[in-house]
Amino acid sequence: MAKHHKYGGSSCIRWAICTISSKLIEQDVLAGKISKGGSSVYADQGSVAHDLGETCIAKGYNPNDFYNQNYSMKIDGRKVSFVIDEDFIDAVKIYVDHINYKKERAQWWRLEKRVHIRKELDGADCGGSADFAGVVGSVLHIDDYKHGKGIGVEIGGNFQTRLYAICILIWLTRHKPKLAKKIKHIQMTIIQPRKSHKDGAIRVEKITLKELLAWFEDVIKPAIEANENGTGVLSANTKTCEWCPRKAYCTEHAKLSAKNAEQEFSEFIKEEALELEDINSLTNEQMINILSHSKDLIKWIGKIEEHLTSTAEKGETVEGRKLVRNFGNRVYKEGMSERRILRKLKRLKLNKEIYYDPAKLKTPAQLEKTLAHTLDNKADAKAIVTTLTEKPFKGLLLVDNSDGRDEVAPNAETEFSAHAEKPKKRKIRKIRKRKNRK
Ligand code: SF4
Repeated sequence: MAKHHKYGGSSCIRWAICTISSKLIEQDVLAGKISKGGSSVYADQGSVAHDLGETCIAKGYNPNDFYNQNYSMKIDGRKVSFVIDEDFIDAVKIYVDHINYKKERAQWWRLEKRVHIRKELDGADCGGSADFAGVVGSVLHIDDYKHGKGIGVEIGGNFQTRLYAICILIWLTRHKPKLAKKIKHIQMTIIQPRKSHKDGAIRVEKITLKELLAWFEDVIKPAIEANENGTGVLSANTKTCEWCPRKAYCTEHAKLSAKNAEQEFSEFIKEEALELEDINSLTNEQMINILSHSKDLIKWIGKIEEHLTSTAEKGETVEGRKLVRNFGNRVYKEGMSERRILRKLKRLKLNKEIYYDPAKLKTPAQLEKTLAHTLDNKADAKAIVTTLTEKPFKGLLLVDNSDGRDEVAPNAETEFSAHAEKPKKRKIRKIRKRKNRK
């Protein structure tokens, strides 16, 4: 997998509109608030689908040739494999057929052409790779395949494909100036076969060269300048924040969510709508009024959540949500009597007050904290407590797709025991010996 640019195509709408987001994300990565990169089964699946499509187009294969085969590739140093089933083939075939048709007619074309445009942006790390770029007559074609079926990607005003178009245009001007001079229009296409859309699986937008260049000058250049020199501003909107890694704790995004909720609720709540205002601007009377509505509102939201969870458990798609396993706090394992736990802890020759609170057994979290302090080793403390505890499975939760937990099938509770967190096999005896040596 190629390295991501700081100002890349897939995140273009975020850094071009919320012009301080890149800086804040960098700070948050350094502070350990968000991890660098990150992956999900959906992202891996998308990468495999792209790779399969590229292989088929470049080598003249039919996606059907890969049916039932285990398709492997390296993503950021990890080996990722998927069995190519009908779902993969049906989707990738639409993409492959579309590109094959186009490339037959193109004077010039490339797959996954990587271009950086640092020179044009005072050294800023901007660039990207279009899945397909080709020139047919006076039209530059930029095609982008989307394997996801969660969110429908719109082509109208799509920042990602426009940035790829600029990158390819700059590359052609540098390396194939005669061909570049012929370009008068840009046609951008999204191919997203697995997500139903009113405009179909293949969606197109055509703009003039002049429009594209004006967008580059008026939107992209000032946005990168603001991001780079620290004069950017926080700006939330649904599309901008969609894939932003800061979304979970960004104040601007929280305000936007509250505003959206207010608008959505006002359509459905029959009584007077709640005002989501700064509490300092509310009178006591207004606050009492809000509180008197809150129980009904919470109940109503709970019912919506219950309804959508049961919809998802039946196997129906709930847009933007997924089912994950829901574990409770650690409890001592079933069959692990207090006497057994005490016996095990006594063998560690620890003072009783370390694991008693004072007359009753400490909770797993308290025990881990005290042990970590006593042993001066967090990992050993965690290992000891892990051998004694388990997380009770509490059913399924319907959460936002951005949640880091693995998605499970609707009937996942039946396979729970196979996937429950397994304690690491660290030998308590070894820890005891080490402690005695001290
Ligand atoms: S969540 Fe939205 S507003 Fe907040 S930093 Fe990200 S893009 Fe900007």
